[in-house]
Parts: sequence; structure tokens; C-alpha cells
Amino acid sequence: MCGIAGVFGVTNASRYVLAALRAQQTRGTAAAGIAANINGEIINEVHAGVVHEAFPGMHILNPYPVNSVIGHVRYPTRGATDISCAQPFVVGKISHCSNGDIPNYEPLRLMMEKKGYQFSTKNDSELITIMLHFMWEKTRSVFKAVKFVMENVKGTYSSLGIINNTAVAFRDPWGVRPMVLGQLLDGWIVASETVALDEVGAKFIRPIDPGELLIFNLGSGKILDAQQVVEPKPRAFCFFERVYFSQIATVIFNQEVAAFRRETGKQLAREDSLARTPDLFVMPVPDSGTCAAEGYAWEAGLHFAHGFIRRHHKGRTFIEAGDWEEKVRAKFSFLRSILENSRIILIDDSIVRGSTMRVLVKLLREHGVKEIHVRPACPPIIGSCYYGIDTARRNELLAYQFQGDIEKMRQYIGADSLQFLSLKGLKKCLGNADDHCLACVTGEYPIP
Ligand code: SF4
Repeated sequence: MCGIAGVFGVTNASRYVLAALRAQQTRGTAAAGIAANINGEIINEVHAGVVHEAFPGMHILNPYPVNSVIGHVRYPTRGATDISCAQPFVVGKISHCSNGDIPNYEPLRLMMEKKGYQFSTKNDSELITIMLHFMWEKTRSVFKAVKFVMENVKGTYSSLGIINNTAVAFRDPWGVRPMVLGQLLDGWIVASETVALDEVGAKFIRPIDPGELLIFNLGSGKILDAQQVVEPKPRAFCFFERVYFSQIATVIFNQEVAAFRRETGKQLAREDSLARTPDLFVMPVPDSGTCAAEGYAWEAGLHFAHGFIRRHHKGRTFIEAGDWEEKVRAKFSFLRSILENSRIILIDDSIVRGSTMRVLVKLLREHGVKEIHVRPACPPIIGSCYYGIDTARRNELLAYQFQGDIEKMRQYIGADSLQFLSLKGLKKCLGNADDHCLACVTGEYPIP
């Protein structure tokens, strides 16, 4: 998972890009980078860490004195986790960065190696940069360069690039990862999430369509071309963006992520025979379980309370490695006044490995909770993601390990009861379920 931002035709573009990247920091904290065409030369600058560490003084800095800049925050899914895979990449007169992953990476890499290219990483975005370079050098056509990528890459990419003296934004034909267009002053902004547009005061215009390419003039930002490069495939927007990854203020399919998550909580309550039990109260796993817990409590008519809060400087456990119990202890502060002798319905956005939930249940009991009923607002995750979210290898997934046996999963996490949101319930909440990838809960992958 990663975040992208590009600003085209705006004075001080690099400052806006850095602000838009910082607004999407939850999409990746490993590295941040920007790139631009400066006097005919493609320049990039990448650093490890979060945006304000990578670019200290970003509020006053304007690293590149040009009107069009692209940028990226990285969450490693393919390639090394260190700075060597930080984006944007540069190959000759081409710079490129993307959010996604490429299941057919190996044969494509071999194909480009046979054409004489040397790779410096195992990163999927470097592969796309090289493919763009190959076809642009051959044809001097931006359209043909992007078409070459779209016709060969069977994977996910929401991409920004600078190709010689133009900037480009394009999205894979399935539309798996988010990508939106906004108007910023007299120019344009493209980003992963609408919160990036809000951050810089831009107006949301529309999502970039699956299989679509936009070409911008680097100086004026004028859109020189906007067209469908290949026929879109059946839409496969990642439902997990709405469940977990995107920020709650982001708008997807005309619905705020927070509103969607509240709906999943309400649906969960409708499906739960415990939902109207007096004396139970509803508690979220903060932060991503909070909206679903609100929805559950509203629907069930039960009290809602925070029994533990997140220490925000600790980052997301999903992203980090290390000892789980130590990490979970470090991540939360527990409120004994609420927890002691309580009986709770504990709502999380989802359960992936189950390791965080297992430790949480143990810690909640240590803090005096008498009864814990765990209710994830998502069906069991049974399959890995190959499209850019690090949901773990399949045999690390809780639901896969126990072959979907709810009782065994309950015993593993140590709860008094466990009930997931049903797949039918999830589809109802999504509304347009057929436009989504649901592979990690159904096992049906839209891209081979
Ligand atoms: Fe999203 Fe799951 Fe599909 Fe990956 S497999 S894109 S996490 S829905």
C-alpha cells in the first residue's frame, strides 16, 4: 500500500505535493519522495521516514521551483523495505511512482531484461518506469508508452509520471486502488484519497477511470489529453480500502468512509443475537474500529465507551514487525474505570492474523473485563492480497489457519464469543458490491 500525489500547473507545486502526501501518511511511512522536470532534466529526491522527517521544514520549503511535481509515500509490499525502493523512480527522461502490485512481475521483468534493461530493485514500480522508458524511447508517444504498460501488466497501479515534458496520471483497467482528480487554483491535483484534496483546499472533480490516461502540460497544467487507453475490465475496487485502509474522512463511491464503516457496524448488530442484551456495552478497537462500533451501538441501543485509547505516536501494528504483545501494550492505554467488571462487545474493523486481537483480549482481562464478545465488522479474511495490501501470507491468516472454524478461532483469541459480519451483510453495506474486489474474503481473484 502506498499513497501518491501530483500537482500540475500550480506555483509552488512541490509544497502542495508534500502537504498532500502528509495528509495520506497512513498509506505508508517507510519513505517519501518527489520528482520533477527541472530545466529538461528529471530530478527526484527520496528519503526514509514520514513526510515531515523526510522533508524537514516542508511548510516553508519549496524544493523544486516548477509548476508540476509528483510524489509518493511508501508502504513496502514488493522489493526491499529500505530506501532503495523509495519512489518516484527515474529512468532517463521518465519518472514514475505508483500504488499497487503486479502479480505477473517476474515474466515482465525477464522481458525487459532481454531488451537490455538492468534493474536496481525488485520493486513493481521500477518495472513500470522501465516499461514506460522503453516504449517512449521507441515511439516518442506518451500514449503508446502507457498503452504498452496497460496491455502487458496484469496487476494494480494508480500511477503518476513525468515523461519528458509532460506529466501523466493513469490507473489500471480494474481500478483496484483509489485515484482522484481535483482542481487546485488554476491547475490540477491527482491523489490517492480525497483527504489529500481537502488538505490543500482543492475541489474534488472525479475519480480517474480504470484504464484511463490523463496527460498534463508541465508548465500550465492544462489537460492535453484524457482518454481511455484500453477497455476497462470488470471493476474491482478494493473493498478493504473502505473497511480498513483509507482514512475515515475520505470519500469513495460518493460515500464517506466513516459512513460506510458505521453501516457495517449497524449491519453487524442486526445479525447479532447478543445485540440487545442489557448491561453489555459496545467498545471499539481504536481507531479503525471506532466508526463500526458507533454504528453497532446506535443500532443496538447499547451504551458506547472507549475502554482503551491509542497512543498515536506508535504507528500502526499492521505495518510494523516485532513482538506482538510488546507492540500492542505499547500501542494502547487502558482505562480501568471503564473496564473493571465490565461485559463488552468489542468491535474491530476486521481480523487478519488475529495476533493483535489475541493480545488485546488478554490485556482486557488483565484490566478486569469479565466478558468479551468479539465482533469484527468484516467477514473472515481467508486469502492473501496480491494487489498491494500486506494482509499476510495465507497460512498466517487466522481464518485460513482454522479453515473458517469460528469456534477454533474464538478459542485462539480467547474471547467469550466471536461473530463476523456476514459476506451478505458486507455486500449490502457496499451497495455496488459487484464493482469491488472481494478476493480476500471470497477467494475469487479478479486478476489471475
Ligand atoms: Fe483488497 Fe482483498 Fe482484493 Fe487485496 S484481495 S485488493 S485487500 S479486496
